[in-house]
Amino acid sequence: MLNIVLFGPPGAGKGTQSEKIIEKYDLNHISTGDLFRKHMGEGTSLGRMAQEYIDEGNLVPDELVIKMVEVKIKSHHSPKGFIFDGFPRTVAQAIALDAMLKKQGLSITTMLALEVEDEELRSRIRLRGKTSGRADDQNDERINNRIETYKRETLPVADYYTAQSKYHGINGTGSIDQIFNDICMVIDLKK
Ligand code: ADP
Repeated sequence: MLNIVLFGPPGAGKGTQSEKIIEKYDLNHISTGDLFRKHMGEGTSLGRMAQEYIDEGNLVPDELVIKMVEVKIKSHHSPKGFIFDGFPRTVAQAIALDAMLKKQGLSITTMLALEVEDEELRSRIRLRGKTSGRADDQNDERINNRIETYKRETLPVADYYTAQSKYHGINGTGSIDQIFNDICMVIDLKK
């Protein structure tokens, strides 16, 4: 099995690259951002609990995220592996993920980290905000809060995987195909 953590700040291109990776390698996609947006759209109790955090650009509490991921891991369809997109976003989530996988005799194969400068992130998110309809893409204060939250709470997750020799940095600026190419080179070495 190929279990990938796709990592990077908001606006780094995780969603775009995930789609291409899933298509090529037939992996189960677990995007916590997409899952929360689905819950919010359907007005479930989880969606209602998550909404206030998401709209302001804060993280949803770990226990809500971890429970939601656990359910998704159990209901997977492809035997080939998982791509975790936007998760884990805290060290506590990373530890929980390792424990969940271990129960099934699995582990993370590699972390692919998309690296993009802050100014480029801000301009990509502002552009996306024109069509995404996402409240958290709409104003500079929320966008900045997401980038700051990433640095404070999420960057330590990179150290967690570095300590396991699983971190691979990928230059996230350039054409979508070029970035995908770099990603595939790393994946093909790990397969
Ligand atoms: P982004 O483009 O900012 O990376 P995502 O779609 O991955 O956006 O996530 C949107 C929002 O959903 C985050 O800003 C956060 O509020 C919430 N969220 C998503 N994944 C997690 C997670 N693993 N832990 C906590 N909050 C999360």
